Amino acid sequence: MDNEILKSGEFLLKESTAEATFIIEEIDEEQQMIRQTCRDFLEAEVFPNLEAIEDKKTGMTSEILGKAGELGLLGISVPEEYEGFGQAFTTSMLASDEMGAGYSFSVAYSAHTGIGTMPIVYYGNEEQRQKYLPPLATGEWRAAYCLTEPTAGSDANSGKTRAVLSEDGKHYILNGVKMWITNGGFADVFTVFAKIDNDRVLSAFIVESAWEGVQVQPEEKKMGIKGSSTTQIFFNDVKVPVENLLGKRGQGFRIALNILHMGRIKLGAAVQGAAKRTISNSVAYANERKQFNQVIANFGAIQYKLAEQVIRTFANESAVYRVSKNIDRVVAEKLKEGGDKHAITIEAIGFYALEAAALKVYGSEMLDYVVDEGVQIHGGMGYSAETEVERGYRDSRINRIFEGTNEINRIIVAEHAINKSMKGVDLKALVAEIKQRDTQIDTSDYFAAKAKMNMNFKAVALLIIERLQEKFGRKFIQEQEILSNLANIIMHTYVSESTKLRVEKLQHIKTGDEWNIYRDILDTLTYDTANLVRTNAMVAIDAFLEGEERAEYAGLIYRLTENIPVNTKETRRRIAAKLIEDNRYDF
Ligand SMILES: Cc1cc2nc3c(=O)[nH]c(=O)nc-3n(C[C@H](O)[C@H](O)[C@H](O)COP(=O)(O)OP(=O)(O)OC[C@H]3O[C@@H](n4cnc5c(N)ncnc54)[C@H](O)[C@@H]3O)c2cc1C
Repeated sequence: MDNEILKSGEFLLKESTAEATFIIEEIDEEQQMIRQTCRDFLEAEVFPNLEAIEDKKTGMTSEILGKAGELGLLGISVPEEYEGFGQAFTTSMLASDEMGAGYSFSVAYSAHTGIGTMPIVYYGNEEQRQKYLPPLATGEWRAAYCLTEPTAGSDANSGKTRAVLSEDGKHYILNGVKMWITNGGFADVFTVFAKIDNDRVLSAFIVESAWEGVQVQPEEKKMGIKGSSTTQIFFNDVKVPVENLLGKRGQGFRIALNILHMGRIKLGAAVQGAAKRTISNSVAYANERKQFNQVIANFGAIQYKLAEQVIRTFANESAVYRVSKNIDRVVAEKLKEGGDKHAITIEAIGFYALEAAALKVYGSEMLDYVVDEGVQIHGGMGYSAETEVERGYRDSRINRIFEGTNEINRIIVAEHAINKSMKGVDLKALVAEIKQRDTQIDTSDYFAAKAKMNMNFKAVALLIIERLQEKFGRKFIQEQEILSNLANIIMHTYVSESTKLRVEKLQHIKTGDEWNIYRDILDTLTYDTANLVRTNAMVAIDAFLEGEERAEYAGLIYRLTENIPVNTKETRRRIAAKLIEDNRYDF
């Protein structure tokens, strides 16, 4: 394996190079074409119909999904032999990113192309793929994913849905209730998770909505994403042919988890499109709205918000494409050894479970920030249903809940870092070395200084991991508050490092003057990250260290999070100035 490709939280232990880091500015011509097709599609089919999409009576969401299928937008990740385009993972992320601007429709799109279709791509056998993938890729059929139940949400493996083999051995008889199913109202095909007989673990089944006993319930009335169909589905003695078992018996939980890893990374991309659209709407309004005889874009308080929207969006994007390409590279490496491409792809996504969870949390909270300030920039108009930011605000909130809540995903980040990333690492020796390290930042080399700051932040995470293991052993898992602090440190460090690598590479792509704005973004982000890491680390150690030991670790944390002074008022003003001049997000 190419040792430049770090996986499974390995970034905590090693440095990456800018040369080995993929950035969105490097997408090829075909990818640019796909991106443009998505943009044109949203302009033609989605944006003019936002009201009608929210009024589900018109069935518009399903109809537009069909049109997306005709254009090939539902088959981007489906292999060519099943009428798809067999594109790389990065390309499917690009599509999620672009389509993410489409409000409710983007949720229907993500559910169909991601958690709906991909279980069959990754785990289906030849017959299953041949039967189900072509109509899903072309938009003839719609797909949904049925894991959650009324009593099984975050604890997904506790579901009560049962599948019992019929006496003639030809069918499983499926009984149970699934809840909160996206695309439930119109999907033709469901991946349903259920336990066979008295199994302790789940199995997965492909179930068609037309089969007897499948009862789709009325639409849920929701806070946002109102144009996305969400229903309960009852399964009453549904006869599922044995050949519709997906993967092996008992493999369902693994399938569910791996599909969720993919869903999380994709969510990190989808929020990106939504954020960019909100920023464009925000700046356009700020450039028009006059108070005190001038446009509100002139005010420092508004410029702060606009700049911060840009910084977080840009940072999220840097991390999203870094990890996407890493997945494609792992797939390419592994394929050299032979094997099924689809099985390898989902395995490669699983290698990035930590990053997937971190991006899900960072991305959803980034978008919540962007839409919240989008409403604020619009003042009273932001509260009016006449503006798009009002819709964006409502629609954003779900992202912190589905694909695993942010609480669960923070625990995944921390647990993964502790259990998996540290496997085989002599943490005590590493911490001893960190304690001796010269942590001073030499600012004479701009990028070396930023790299060192990121390495210092990683060292903070490592110190906390080692102390947690020492103090709590395997019971660390009960210390959720500390784990959340640790997850924040890891997540912000990953995003900060990804942004540094991108800005470094951009030096060779942008001209000097153009590039300076990216330097402002990086300076502001790294400055804020140092403060965030320090606060989270101090809160963490104050929860379990005392006396001299606490004093020693507090001293280390202060040293490791020492900041390079940045006038973030000015950096933000410059970032806002570019946005205000462009009158739309163009970074
Ligand atoms: C609009 C919408 C669409 C959805 N689409 C789908 C879909 O297509 N398919 C599907 O299968 N599901 C779907 N879901 C379900 C979604 O994934 C779940 O709502 C989510 O996983 C949380 O489960 P829950 O709602 O039961 O909350 P709970 O699990 O009851 O959680 C309640 C609160 O407790 C916290 N919590 C729970 N357990 C822990 C723990 N161990 N430690 C700390 N905190 C904890 C949670 O973080 C949360 O804050 C959708 C949900 C919504 C609202």
